[in-house]
Amino acid sequence: MASAQPGPAKLGEPDLILVRYGELALKKGNRGEFEKALARNLRQALASTTKAEVERQHGRIFIRPERRCEKAARRAAEVFGVKTVSPAWVVASDLEAITAQAAKLLDSALAARTQSEPVSFRVRARRSNKAFPLNSSELERHVAERILPGPETVKVQLVDPEMTLGIEVRDRKTFVFLDRFEGPGGLPVGTLGRALCLLSGGIDSPVASWLAMKRGLHMGYVSFHSAPYIGEGFRRKVREVVRALGRWQYKAPLFTVPFADIQVAIRDQAPERYRTVLYRRMMQRIAERISATESCGALVTGECLGQVASQTLENLTCIGAATSVPVLRPVLTFDKEEIIQIARRIGTFDISIQPEPDCCTVFQPSRPVIRGRLEDCLAAEEQMDVEGLVQRALDGTEMELLDHEGGA
Ligand code: ATP
Ligand code: MG
Repeated sequence: MASAQPGPAKLGEPDLILVRYGELALKKGNRGEFEKALARNLRQALASTTKAEVERQHGRIFIRPERRCEKAARRAAEVFGVKTVSPAWVVASDLEAITAQAAKLLDSALAARTQSEPVSFRVRARRSNKAFPLNSSELERHVAERILPGPETVKVQLVDPEMTLGIEVRDRKTFVFLDRFEGPGGLPVGTLGRALCLLSGGIDSPVASWLAMKRGLHMGYVSFHSAPYIGEGFRRKVREVVRALGRWQYKAPLFTVPFADIQVAIRDQAPERYRTVLYRRMMQRIAERISATESCGALVTGECLGQVASQTLENLTCIGAATSVPVLRPVLTFDKEEIIQIARRIGTFDISIQPEPDCCTVFQPSRPVIRGRLEDCLAAEEQMDVEGLVQRALDGTEMELLDHEGGA
């Protein structure tokens, strides 16, 4: 049977946005804490889109935006911890009200379609209110029978249809919706503590940072800068990357460490072949000291096994041995193509490929060591004032707080 009114009924804006989250609900002991963090992160993410109330209730979060509901829903769907998001209409848990709203929603979606062939469609109902007179499949059938306009427009298809009209019957209220925006999954940023990412101008470290954030880490960034051997363009590029990553974390500290003096000391006092590995060991030492003042429990790097000479198992072992903080390497086993795919998706790829020299290009060895030995690193460092170099670099370090909107 077609809906009562001829032509599409006026639908109006959705009443709220339904946010579903997956994995974090499994963390029984600290579920409340995780939900609170997710609600807080949602509020923060929406701040620049619209005023919005964010409310937690029985394993769901509801957002009531003042305006721009669809935009707010798409923004909410970018927040880590979110599984799916649906703008929804709220009606009384009453068969007639539900059916009327479902009809309006389907009519309006059909009116917006441009293709002439029939759309595959199903109704999917859930009820947490067991007192509701129909069970889920009876409700699906009841609504479908009353709202379907006919096989020339809509054909029922239970598996993988193009359109799914969702109905969730709660106690007194029922939600009706069509859209489901996929969230990124993961865990709310900040719920697993803090980490410091060594951020270069390359493609890999922003992706490593994003993956660490996805698992609930709140990131700070440290970048080593080789002025005067490389120009200000490098700093601009790193800032741009941090701001792009701010879509997931909104605000982050960026530490810029002057690194040229350390590179000069290594150039002058260590075997040429060990330069890159020794640069990295110094980076880890300095990052460890910053991580202690920032309460970061780990360092994050974009190192990837076998991608370049400095990233063999032996060299990574030499590099990791310079610090006692855990070093997380989220892209360690990824192929370059896999890393690039994520970089494109998160919007850092185009920034990373801007041609700006970074510190690794300064005094680059012609034949870098492939299988470095820790005793050779230690012997080379004996010739240098490691502590003095680290301390002077820390003294010259600048910190800025960057946010996604471009503020500093
Ligand atoms: P990326 O694409 O992240 O630059 P890469 O493949 O170019 O990585 P390397 O240049 O060997 O690899 O650097 C390995 C890791 O060391 C980087 O992913 C980053 O975490 C860290 N790193 C390298 N250079 C810098 C730098 N100038 N400042 C901060 N971290 C750096
Ligand atoms: Mg690099």
